[in-house]
Amino acid sequence: MKMNQFVIIGLGRFGASIGKELIELGYEVLGVDRDEEKVQEMSGILTHAVIADATDEDTLRSIGARNFDCGVVAIGDDVQASILAAILLKELGVKKVVAKAVSELHGRVLERMDVDRVIYPERDMGIRVAHQLVSPNLLDYIELSDKYTIAELGVPACLAGKSIEETNPRGRYGCSIVALNKPKGMIVAPTATDTLAEGDVMVVIGTNEQIEAFQDAIG
Ligand code: ADP
Repeated sequence: MKMNQFVIIGLGRFGASIGKELIELGYEVLGVDRDEEKVQEMSGILTHAVIADATDEDTLRSIGARNFDCGVVAIGDDVQASILAAILLKELGVKKVVAKAVSELHGRVLERMDVDRVIYPERDMGIRVAHQLVSPNLLDYIELSDKYTIAELGVPACLAGKSIEETNPRGRYGCSIVALNKPKGMIVAPTATDTLAEGDVMVVIGTNEQIEAFQDAIG
């Protein structure tokens, strides 16, 4: 289902950042916050921004929350308000509700309420930064499942000038280079003879252990 219209509840750092990016991407965004200052800051940026208490059902009805494809509950520390706003959006019939959790317990409650996606921005960013700190070549990664990961690894000096065949991560460690990002463009499904240059980015797929073994060998 294509999402076109978004309502964001809470225009703190997280909500404002999501809203600005969605606008950049060309979507319509209604921002809601009970703090007048936050609403004023965002009023020239978002499609609409309104001062309202999102825990009030009549208010959410009157701003037409049910007409939105996706609702993002970006309320931070007020856990009760976050839970109430998420329940109300679901009950009003918003198709997809995404909510930010500030603790594991808060997240478990949101999940029990059938919130479509619970996000733990600080926990997840902390984990991501820890991985990057211990693996200098790791630029970014996506966990496909508990077992499989796609990682973006910077090509270090020790691999510069080597072909994919010579580097041979599949034969040595079991993981495959599925794309190579070079300054002149991305090579998707590179061949054995494509060569690596320092600073290129390898997109590697494999099990966590295979990718770690490759990283350790080049790190
Ligand atoms: P962040 O860490 O993303 O900055 P904050 O907790 O600072 O998170 O921001 C949450 C925002 O949610 C604040 O601007 C606050 O005014 C807003 N907010 C909290 N409760 C409600 C509510 N019941 N209705 C609307 N907005 C709310």
